[in-house]
Order: sequence, then C-alpha cells, then structure tokens
Amino acid sequence: MDHFPIFVQTDAARIIVSGGGDAALAKLRLLLKTRAKITVFAADAAPEIAQWHAAGQLTLVGRAMDYGDAVCATLFYGANEDEAEDARTAHLARTCGAMVNIVDNLEDSQFITPAIVDRDPVTIAIGTEGAAPVLARAIKADLEERLPQSLGTLARIGKTFRKASYALSFGRARRDFWRAFYFDAGPKAIAQGKDKVLPALESLLNIHLNKTAREGHVAFVGGGPGDPELLTLKARRALDEADVVIYDRLITPEILELARREATMIDVGKEGFGVHTPQEHINALLVEHAQAGAQVVRLKSGDATVFGRLDEEIDAVDAHSIGWHIVPGITSASAAVATIGQSLTRRGRNASVRFLTGHDTRGFADHDWHALAKPGEVAAIYMGKKSARFIQGRLLMHGADRHTPVTVIENASRVDQRVLETTLDALPAALEAAKLDGPALTFLGLAPRAALAAAPTIKIEEFA
Ligand code: SAH
Repeated sequence: MDHFPIFVQTDAARIIVSGGGDAALAKLRLLLKTRAKITVFAADAAPEIAQWHAAGQLTLVGRAMDYGDAVCATLFYGANEDEAEDARTAHLARTCGAMVNIVDNLEDSQFITPAIVDRDPVTIAIGTEGAAPVLARAIKADLEERLPQSLGTLARIGKTFRKASYALSFGRARRDFWRAFYFDAGPKAIAQGKDKVLPALESLLNIHLNKTAREGHVAFVGGGPGDPELLTLKARRALDEADVVIYDRLITPEILELARREATMIDVGKEGFGVHTPQEHINALLVEHAQAGAQVVRLKSGDATVFGRLDEEIDAVDAHSIGWHIVPGITSASAAVATIGQSLTRRGRNASVRFLTGHDTRGFADHDWHALAKPGEVAAIYMGKKSARFIQGRLLMHGADRHTPVTVIENASRVDQRVLETTLDALPAALEAAKLDGPALTFLGLAPRAALAAAPTIKIEEFA
C-alpha cells in the first residue's frame, strides 16, 4: 500500500486550487461538498467558478498564484493543465506546508483523490494507487447501485442515537443491535417515512436490552481451495460475524481479509511433516475462546470434514458442552478436477472415487492397493507429494499399469495454479523436476481433458 487512506477534516480548513479550466472544475465539484474555505487562483476562470464565487461558495482570485497565497492551507490542488505552472504553484504551496496534489501527475503528488461513493455521512473512498482509474470507477458504479440512497439518512439518525445504545454492553451486544438497525429495522422504518426511524430505534433497543447474551459457539468452516469466490455464502457470513478466527496454513490472505476487522486472528498453521501447532493446543484455544463467550470460526482449507482432524476438535468442544456447527466447503479435489475439465466419476469408467491421504500421523498411509491398481480407478490423493514414490511402488507391486495417467494440480483455483500431466511410471521424477512448493492434489487415473490441453486458460506441463 503506497497510499494510506485517511479522511481529512475539512470543516473551516483552507483548500487552494490553482487553475480555472476543466481539471479545476472537476475537483471543485467534489470539494464544494465539504465545508472547507476554498480559494481558486486563475487569471481566466470558467464561468461556473465565477458563479460559485458570486454565490459565496468559494473565493476566486483572478490572477496566478503567488508567494504567501497558500498560507495556512491544508490541501493544494495544482489543476493548471500546464506542467510548468503546476510545478511552480505546487512549490509555493509546499513551502506553506500544504499537502499537494497535482492533477494527473501521481509522481509529484503527496496525496491522491480517490473515487468517492457519497452517502453522507457514509463515505466510501476507492483507490487503485493510480494504477487503474477505470477499475475504481467500475467499483464505484457497482457500489452506487448497491447502497440505497436512504443509507445516509439512516446513518445520520443512527448517529444521534449512539449514546442511547451505550445501554447495551460494549462489543457483540452493541454490534448486533446496530446490524439489526442498518440491515433490517432501519430500511423497513424509513420506507414508511423518516419520522418512523427514531421510534424504530427505540423499540429495537428495548428488544435488545431484554435479550440474554449470546453464548460462545464454534463454527467449523470450510474455507475452500483458496479462491475467495469459492467460499460459500454461509462461510462469508460466519467470517463477517466472527470474534475469533483460528485458521490453517492453507487459508489464503484474500480470505482472511474477509474476516471482521475487529476479529482476533490466530494462525495455527500446520505444515506436513514440519513445524506445527500441536492439535491439543488448537483444541484448547477453541475451548478457551468459546468459553469466554466468543463466536469462534475454526477456518480449515477445502472442506472441514476432509482430512482436517475435525472430529478431535468437535470432541474437545463437545466435552465442554459448547455449541458448534459445520459449514461445508469446496474440497480441493473438486476444485482440482474442475481445473482439468474432468468429472470425478464417469459412467462406464469409474462408479466410485476415493479420497486418499498420502500420509497420516504415523507416516505413509496404507490403502487397499490391490483395488486401486485396477484399470479405470480414480483416486484423489491429498498430501501426496512426499509419498509419491511409496504410492507408485505399492500400486505397481499390485499390478497397476505403468501408463496409468496421473495429474498433479498445485494451488488449484489460485492464480499460481499449475498442472502436471504425467503417468504412474514417471510420477516421482515429474514431481521432482517440477519443484512444487504449494499444496498439490494428485489424481490417479485422470488426465486433463484433451480439449483443455489446447486451451490457453491452463498451462499443462507434461512429464511422460
Ligand atoms: N480439508 C482440505 C484438505 C486438507 S489436507 C480439503 O478439503 O481440501 C491438505 C491437502 O489438501 C494438501 O496437502 C493438498 O493435497 C490439498 N490441497 C488443499 N488446498 C489445495 C489447493 N488449493 N490445490 C491443491 N491441493 C490442495
């Protein structure tokens, strides 16, 4: 983040705009929404600026800016549409201590003006570090559409009720009250008229004052394979309401971003055979936070019920009579098979599919190798990188065809996703050559669909 977003107090602040053409007009239309004292320096100002001056909305000085003109100014906009004049006036402003913005000149600006969605007092600022103004405008348009015009009115009335809401205890009780107001009671009341909003707030407060405190609870949430768009709506909501999020190593930063900003984030990342947080410690954390009354989200990659040691954690919270529920997620086998355009089952090929783990707590995991070695079998092998040679050995020993297709998908659903197309014979060498360092899922008995191999959307590396 090169630019840190803040909201600047403009009440009675002095803002200087140098220039009187289109660039100045665009900035002035925004600035006039504030209560700042605006001064424009322009020898040849557009008629609108002269009109604003006549109406007392700003001060127009009909000459170029000079020494001392920016005294006590908070912000300065160089909108001269002339590089030399922008540089000259920006220098004058800087010596007076003002923060400088030069229109269309990111490099020499100290601050940038974001795209703004205005539902005063709710103001949303969107910035792209100057990289993609088009994108900022598209996001702005999208938000404009989604946020009702009444939001500003609700917020303004809500503000007058803030002190009254202190009757509720700090934290969750107060948050639940305001959530119910902004997303339910408020919009309903305002639809019947502005004067109905305050009474609605009063009756809502009464309802909430009579509520007993919510008990601590644990939601075991599947975070999916990594792409935040593959989260379920329920997972999103759980993250949005969480007081504490206890997450695994494979949870991507984009997903963590979705958690409520005030939530306590606890990383209990476990890495295959490497350093890890002991399971007992994770169990203890769940119990400790839920007993303190927190809404805990235990966020696991993929689906929480697949190779996630879920039962041990459920037993731990159960033993303390703590409420819990499971929010299913998209398991990595589903994401990986989608990547290669195949089905997990297919009529005439395989009527069942196995989800295997390459290793368990005791080392390489044992399976029914004899059954797996039969032609047409499909298995999704989780945590299978380190055990590839072992699995290959067992399968060949039980008569599997050396040419059985094997596909490894690394970082399925993420931007850095990779697909290795190989055979059972070449699997260990292919894995070694590819040097995968992200999570990878190995499909035994599946190759990428032929039509996809030619498609530019996925890059397939072949290791025959
Ligand atoms: N509960 C998870 C699995 C946890 S075990 C699920 O349902 O997906 C961790 C293993 O899952 C990793 O070693 C890897 O084999 C697989 N995995 C998780 N995320 C993955 C991803 N984005 N791409 C490929 N494999 C993934």
